[in-house]
Amino acid sequence: MNYRLGLQERIAHVQERIQAVCERSNRHADEVQIVAVTKYVSLAKTADVLDAGLMHLGENRWQNAQAKWEALHDRGVWHFIGHLQTNKVKDVIGKFQYIHSLDRLSLAKELEKKAAELDIRVNVFVQVNISGEESKYGLAAEEAPAFLESLQQMPHLNVVGLMTMAPEVEDAEQTRPVFRGLRELRDRLNELKLTEQPIQHLSMGMSGDFEIAIEEGATFVRLGSILVGKEED
Ligand SMILES: *Cc1c(COP(=O)(O)O)cnc(C)c1O
Repeated sequence: MNYRLGLQERIAHVQERIQAVCERSNRHADEVQIVAVTKYVSLAKTADVLDAGLMHLGENRWQNAQAKWEALHDRGVWHFIGHLQTNKVKDVIGKFQYIHSLDRLSLAKELEKKAAELDIRVNVFVQVNISGEESKYGLAAEEAPAFLESLQQMPHLNVVGLMTMAPEVEDAEQTRPVFRGLRELRDRLNELKLTEQPIQHLSMGMSGDFEIAIEEGATFVRLGSILVGKEED
């Protein structure tokens, strides 16, 4: 990947790779949404991403997202992808249409409370730590059924999917069991019928491993460096 390419070229290049992986794994490219992770870049560059035709934007801290959100919120669909502290829920609620990092009951309760106050429903992904790395946030897979059961008491939370982060490895192929594990967990959870609607989405895959994630069923890939680059590029 040549990081000096322009944004349009990078997007086209990534879209071609997504198209190719979908073809070889018998999926439709329109089942896979790109969340452009703009956490590394400026407001101007985030506007360029929207101008280039991408719609889903991912940010991991309200501090970094605020100026971009205030200027551009009407133009995009906003995804909160970072670890969310309970006392920061008030900042992001009602602004981000998707929260990818629901990983504990105290956070669920706070999201439910604030969403109820605003009379809105929030789309959430339950973050699962499939790899078991200590450094990663997320529930253990075994905890997921009971967790979803507790969410049944929270009518303002709409569980749309599961999210995971794969370990950083040299050979992306090594991430496959993690992505496959998330898909299999989703399918098992759906058999248990713990949610109003079947859980549809899998938020998995980043710049280094998105093709493997798509082969394993990703419906949202979260792409930062490969797509929008970093500001110093
Ligand atoms: C930063 C970040 C990404 C994007 O990472 P890249 O490797 O730059 O594509 C994806 N998901 C989360 C949760 C992130 O924090």
